[in-house]
Amino acid sequence: MTSTHGLPPEFVLQPDGSLRTLDKYDAPLLAAQRGESTRFHAMAKPAGSACNLDCAYCFYLSKATLRDGPGSGRMSAATLEAFIRQYIECQTGSEVVFSWQGGEPTLLGVDFFRRVVELERTYAKPGQTIQNDLQTNGTLLDDDWCRFLKEHRFLVGLSIDGPQKLHDAFRVAKDGSPTFAKVFAAAKLLHKHDVPFNTLTCVNRLNARHPLDVYRFLRRELGSTYLQFIPIVEYNGFERIAPQHWDPAALPRQGDPQARPGHPQSVVTDWSVDPEDWGYFLVKTFDEWRRRDLGKVLVNHFETLVAQHLGQPSQLCVYGEICGKGLAVEHDGGVYACDHYVYPEYRVGNVHAGRLTDAVFSRAQVRFGYAKSETLPRQCRECPYLRDCWGECPKNRILRTTDGEAGLNYLCSGFQRFFAHAIPEVDRIVADLQTRGTTSRPRM
Ligand code: SF4
Ligand code: SF4
Repeated sequence: MTSTHGLPPEFVLQPDGSLRTLDKYDAPLLAAQRGESTRFHAMAKPAGSACNLDCAYCFYLSKATLRDGPGSGRMSAATLEAFIRQYIECQTGSEVVFSWQGGEPTLLGVDFFRRVVELERTYAKPGQTIQNDLQTNGTLLDDDWCRFLKEHRFLVGLSIDGPQKLHDAFRVAKDGSPTFAKVFAAAKLLHKHDVPFNTLTCVNRLNARHPLDVYRFLRRELGSTYLQFIPIVEYNGFERIAPQHWDPAALPRQGDPQARPGHPQSVVTDWSVDPEDWGYFLVKTFDEWRRRDLGKVLVNHFETLVAQHLGQPSQLCVYGEICGKGLAVEHDGGVYACDHYVYPEYRVGNVHAGRLTDAVFSRAQVRFGYAKSETLPRQCRECPYLRDCWGECPKNRILRTTDGEAGLNYLCSGFQRFFAHAIPEVDRIVADLQTRGTTSRPRM
């Protein structure tokens, strides 16, 4: 923001010399500049989009060739240090969480992460706790890696899509060979070394039709107690076209055949989950979780729904009213609005140019976060599930409503089915928790 020096405090001087009144989009940066509480999260991409696998639905591999995008490369020593220093310096909370993602971060080797831990120790403020998360496909993990992860208390996220047949349908190596055996072996190795891990399962067009096979495999064969399900929704052309930069008039309406995968002119890639199947998947896994695993297993969508009905904020950005506090930092230090918005249109800074807080709380980024609820179509604003859903993630708003308004979430029909089914039961769970005086849910 341009300095307000010499001006009444409610005005700001813009780069073109004009004045404008300060508004709510300026407030977070002003608060940060006053040294007030600043908390945010950034996902680091130290290997950029490089990966040893070639999963059909990966939305990140194409970043290497995106025009004016981050390109490919590994994070240099100078960028790593600048990022770690700034990320710690800019946060006022007592806990700082680093999340290392890709591409595949383990391609960088254990020594890269030994340096990470050293730098974190160097820059940690007194009394601050530093936590590291590592999202991995697991195929490169070995005893050495696991010893390191255990020693430094990394929380691992292991990507696995279900039992062998479902996993190997899309998650393949560069030569097209299956990867299930290696990932399953990685899970065993993590158990052997007592490294805490959760599972991240991409729910796609195929495994969405087998919810109980997926859930029971993760729960009982893999021993996962924290299940994250991520719906695969890929706009056809996502490799080049940034979200919200698509032609709204060309988007199908809800109910059109093009609003489902498999149609020759579908709005999504072939492997994207069908909205109806997404609803079916959530309903079936919710019932299984409720019947057998409530209180023992965390499932991201269910935990957050319970938390919201307890009056707590959403634990997942996608179900929040406002987002924009989870950015991505690429290998070259480029800072982007979100992991799903690594496009030049959404680059908000660079760790080598200015303070990280200036990017995180920039007007562009704050507006990005507010747009999540401010741009909802009437169908969402009048929806009985608005406060559970908030239109989910804006990157998935690739439909028009039946009366032609743009901005409807592709998964809407699935969410409606799930909320209609789950909410009465969630309210019973909440009433029970309140009766027993146990109203705090575990952090996700
Ligand atoms: S754009 Fe989507 S994934 Fe990114 S922070 Fe917002 S809701 Fe979350
Ligand atoms: S369920 Fe559908 S209509 Fe309701 S808020 Fe979510 S996306 Fe909008």
